[in-house]
Amino acid sequence: MDLEDITVRELEYLRVINEEDSPISITSLSRKLGRSASSVYEEVNHLISKGLVCKGPEGVYLSSNGKMLLELVDNSHRIIETWLVGLGFSVDEACRLASKMETTMPIEVLRKLYEKIGKPRSCPHGKPITFSSTVINKA
Ligand SMILES: [Zn+2]
Repeated sequence: MDLEDITVRELEYLRVINEEDSPISITSLSRKLGRSASSVYEEVNHLISKGLVCKGPEGVYLSSNGKMLLELVDNSHRIIETWLVGLGFSVDEACRLASKMETTMPIEVLRKLYEKIGKPRSCPHGKPITFSSTVINKA
């Protein structure tokens, strides 16, 4: 699994699904995303075929691969953001730029970058960076 495996739209779905504590129905999901139920249904099926989302009687939820990928993207965002703040960007600017780069940064670059900036434990917003402990890092 790599960051390049995910598109911005897929990521948006994974984030919204992940915000829920319990499985979410297609209807609630389409309301939250502001998209038609039919297009949400189609995208969800696509995510299921990619093994990122599971479907139960009560709705859809993230698979362990989906959770892992989301964690990787969040770590990517936080590492890039920390690096950019170190380069002199404001936190807001760094956050905006990191959102553009979070899914396009190759994992081997991310790994080097993480080491280069001293393996930080949290991002400028104070959110934890768990990159060193993620399964993906060991892969
Ligand atoms: Zn941010």
